[in-house]
Amino acid sequence: MEISIEEQLQEIRERGLFRSTRVIGGCQSAHVQIDGRSVLILCSNNYLGLADHPVLIEASVRAAQQYGTSSGASRLVSGTMELHERLESEVASFKNTDAALLFNSGYAANTGIIPALAGRGDVIYSDRLNHASIIDGALLSGARLIRYPHNDHVALSKRMEKNRSNGRILIVTDGVFSMDGDMAHLRELVELKRRFKGLLMVDDAHGSGVVGEQGRGVAELLGVSDDIDIQMGTFGKALGSFGAYSAVSAPLRDLLINRARSFIFSTSLPPAVLAASSAAIGVVRSPEGAQRRLRLAENAALFRKLLGQAGFELPGSTTQIIPIMVGEAETTMRFSRLLLDEGVFVQGIRPPTVPAGASRLRCTVMATHTRDDLEWAADRIATVGRSLGVI
Ligand SMILES: *Cc1c(COP(=O)(O)O)cnc(C)c1O
Repeated sequence: MEISIEEQLQEIRERGLFRSTRVIGGCQSAHVQIDGRSVLILCSNNYLGLADHPVLIEASVRAAQQYGTSSGASRLVSGTMELHERLESEVASFKNTDAALLFNSGYAANTGIIPALAGRGDVIYSDRLNHASIIDGALLSGARLIRYPHNDHVALSKRMEKNRSNGRILIVTDGVFSMDGDMAHLRELVELKRRFKGLLMVDDAHGSGVVGEQGRGVAELLGVSDDIDIQMGTFGKALGSFGAYSAVSAPLRDLLINRARSFIFSTSLPPAVLAASSAAIGVVRSPEGAQRRLRLAENAALFRKLLGQAGFELPGSTTQIIPIMVGEAETTMRFSRLLLDEGVFVQGIRPPTVPAGASRLRCTVMATHTRDDLEWAADRIATVGRSLGVI
């Protein structure tokens, strides 16, 4: 029986899963304005603090002045501008690949790339904790989707053994897992893709610019960059801009141009955004970038230590994404509301983003947080956590 929109909304509310957006005044800095009040932000993916970096802003303004505000069409129609080509060669050079292709967002990349590579008769193996955009891309592809337990290459290997097929095999994983802050075991996945003659795609939305000595991501850290067929990353998180890239071989780039529908049928990124992304890669590759990565790693280690000492349950995060496990969605959202009253802005994450019973506060630290910021925030979090019986 058909239900009304109001009834549907009521049902979402009753399950404690109603979502709404919050208006933030000013830039996405370490402190932001909410309802006219300054609060410490602990839920932004602007990890390196580049979203208000003068070099990015300047590049963006200049590009708008020189190239205007829009790309005018899809790249295949009228929309390939010099700035697209420039950014793609910068990405390829940064990631040390033959080629790169831009996408309008990480979501658009995953829903474009995956169906371009796999279809009916093919099999996609996807980590159970992969980002929603990977799942959506896999569902859209029409390929058989087989999800494997998180980071469990032994279980994956068994599944691959059992499902031998003549079609193409694609293994796809987050690099840094977005809600847990741990990393994919890429060496084992490379092993499996070789053994089963498949392709391996890594979505490093949260690792790009941050993980690895040069900030090239989890593949760099684990020394397997050359063995990943599709390295996808985004500009909207640590790189402080917007959009996404795939770093790939030249033939794969051609295939994506011809088959990825989110590339073909969507107006391409505009000049101001492209120029900000180029500038961001410049910063990430400079000594300043290395400095910011170091600060971020120190901040993450400090914050994990403080929360651990307070008695919170922290799963295996090794990155700047530090979830505090709470359990019930309602307590989690209460925790988040009370913290905002205290001046700490942390989002509660609940189903369907995470499994039922695994609701959490997803804390993310930034290179631009000070030690004082983090000590103060950890203290507020512990006080509220105790009042709610979480610790
Ligand atoms: C954020 C995210 C995306 C989506 O990227 P956008 O550019 O924000 O659309 C894709 N994959 C992962 C793992 C992400 O965390």
